[in-house]
Amino acid sequence: MIDIGVNLTSSQFTGDEDTVVARARDAGVTGMILTGTDIESSREANSLAARYSGYAWSTAGVHPHDAKTVDDLALPAIRALAGKESVVAIGECGLDFNRDFSPRPQQEAVFEAHLALAVELQMPVFMHCRDAHERFMAIYRNYADNLPGAVLHCFTGSESELRDCLDAGVAIGITGWVCDERRGGELREVVRYIPDDRLLIETDAPYLIPRDLRPKPKSRRNEPCYLPHIAGTIAECRGQTWQHVVSVSLQNSRRIFCLPAA
Ligand SMILES: [Zn+2]
Repeated sequence: MIDIGVNLTSSQFTGDEDTVVARARDAGVTGMILTGTDIESSREANSLAARYSGYAWSTAGVHPHDAKTVDDLALPAIRALAGKESVVAIGECGLDFNRDFSPRPQQEAVFEAHLALAVELQMPVFMHCRDAHERFMAIYRNYADNLPGAVLHCFTGSESELRDCLDAGVAIGITGWVCDERRGGELREVVRYIPDDRLLIETDAPYLIPRDLRPKPKSRRNEPCYLPHIAGTIAECRGQTWQHVVSVSLQNSRRIFCLPAA
């Protein structure tokens, strides 16, 4: 199984990357995509992917939180990184109107610039959307037909938002949010409406540690080694076997990100 969202460049993992990757391998995670969230972390993600060549790949992009740091919408640094062998998607990019860490017009301009770049380079996009569904879809739809692939990672929306995404050809990343009985209640219902060929699984480590891990880990830091657990909860919610969820999500990861078969 492939964890499509690992923030291995987070300071929470500094100096511990080899151990985290080894633990993931031991847990049965057969590959991971390292998320780039700004220019610096996209560079670091690329270097780490090269260190774990054949096991890890990376994305290159600027998260909406960091959209305010972009001063050239041609995205020269992202464009340069996109040519590297281990970079398999443009992103993380999108809109976040929950935290509003960057002004909304700037978020929208930077998101649009990423979509245009992905179309030009014919690469899939790795997207983020929080409390911005209408604007997100309006912008995404202008590029949808010309993108080779699109993933909305860490989906936490409603059923109607999910249907909009599916209608527009988006694949859906599900995190350990689904393991949270309280805050993940709606997602636990909605996750069954994702067709097999659109489902992707991820931890978004070090964030979003599954709340139902037993025994409760001492650290609050999420790790890719918990991906099999998340797959189990997703399987339960969908009324499928663990093996089925693992198998279809693996095929989807390979197809969308053009990863080599093991
Ligand atoms: Zn995100």
